[in-house]
Amino acid sequence: MIFSSALYLFFIAVFNTFTTHILLTRKKSIIFCINAFIITTICAYITNILAEKYIHNPVLLEYVLYLISCLYIVYIHIVFNESISKKIFAMFSIWMFSTICLVVSVKIAQIFTGINEIKYNLEIIYFLRECLQIILLLITYFYIRSPYKDIFNKVSNKTIGFMSLYPLFAFLLLINNYTTSISGLKSLDYTLNMLFLLVFIIMGYVFVFSGISSASRIISMQYRMERLEWTSRSDPLTGLYNRRYIMEKIENEFKRPKKKKFSLVIADIDYFKKINDTYGHDCGDCVLQMISKSLMDNVREQDLVSRWGGEEFLLLLPETEVEGAYTLMNRIKKIIGEQIIEYNGNQVSITMTFGIADSQDYQLIDDVIKKADNALYEGKGRGRNCVVVA
Ligand code: GH3
Ligand code: MG
Ligand code: MG
Repeated sequence: MIFSSALYLFFIAVFNTFTTHILLTRKKSIIFCINAFIITTICAYITNILAEKYIHNPVLLEYVLYLISCLYIVYIHIVFNESISKKIFAMFSIWMFSTICLVVSVKIAQIFTGINEIKYNLEIIYFLRECLQIILLLITYFYIRSPYKDIFNKVSNKTIGFMSLYPLFAFLLLINNYTTSISGLKSLDYTLNMLFLLVFIIMGYVFVFSGISSASRIISMQYRMERLEWTSRSDPLTGLYNRRYIMEKIENEFKRPKKKKFSLVIADIDYFKKINDTYGHDCGDCVLQMISKSLMDNVREQDLVSRWGGEEFLLLLPETEVEGAYTLMNRIKKIIGEQIIEYNGNQVSITMTFGIADSQDYQLIDDVIKKADNALYEGKGRGRNCVVVA
């Protein structure tokens, strides 16, 4: 008797552990998991046998057996990668459904044999529960695994923490109702009550899960919108703002009711064509990325850096006089000039020329841009690697 109940519980533990493995991400090796599972199961069985021997109150014994199952919490905690709240959610969900399998098996066995006393139906209950657990395992593997993991990755730990309360309470409610109504099994109302309880629990579970999945849909929609917004305003190679976005920003500066001063800088890489010709186009792309990063790293927080064209950059410096812009650009020119870019074993160094214009005397955006452009070409004419104010 002890052996068959031990074997039965062993397979339940195996199925529940398999189900957990399907739903969560393993962080330990499979050998470690097998060893940890064997040790946990042996500990659970020894305490089970002791509990069955010394505790004679069936209700109390039932609770103690469930408490002993908590040894598997240690296994789950050690073996899986997820946060504690996600592990609790997964584990109590599995326990809840496993207990539902037990309740359903008891009911079917009663109907099948016509005997209400659980102890006379044990063999058939064992068999039915194992079958239901296998069905649960297969459903989890084929239908639940991928949406479950998807939702788990998107929903925050805090949300899952609150959601965990549902399977936890449902599990406690279920075992409480189940263990305390063993003596009331003969009651005619029992089947109906139990059925209502199961419907209530499963419906609640469906609501919890649809709540999580709609929350995750909103999160992923927000994420997609943010990405779309970012893609529409940025340059794919350098990650800087693109020409369209910086033009919007310059227009905004012009539209301000109390127009504040700002400076515009157009910066161009010197002899960039030579880099492409000597080291290849990929190296040229890499240089563009490194220069973009240097520009971003060295401007102030309020300044905006954009890719204006091929190897040209436009910088919008709000509330900045030309003197300030001149000092800042000289500092950046020096940093970039001293930078050595490694690409495929080649060491590439470059210089840049900068043209600055301020917004003060102009009414049209195009005029300011044109001024900065002229200053840039003046700089190119002066031999490059310099900063010129319009
Ligand atoms: P200057 O000092 O007068 O500015 O000379 P330059 O060679 O930098 O200027 P030029 O306008 O003659 O050449 C610009 C080159 O930039 C030509 C083009 O092939 C290259 N280029 C433009 N966009 C890209 C890009 O996205 N990637 C790469 N690798 N090269 C680019
Ligand atoms: Mg150039
Ligand atoms: Mg150019």
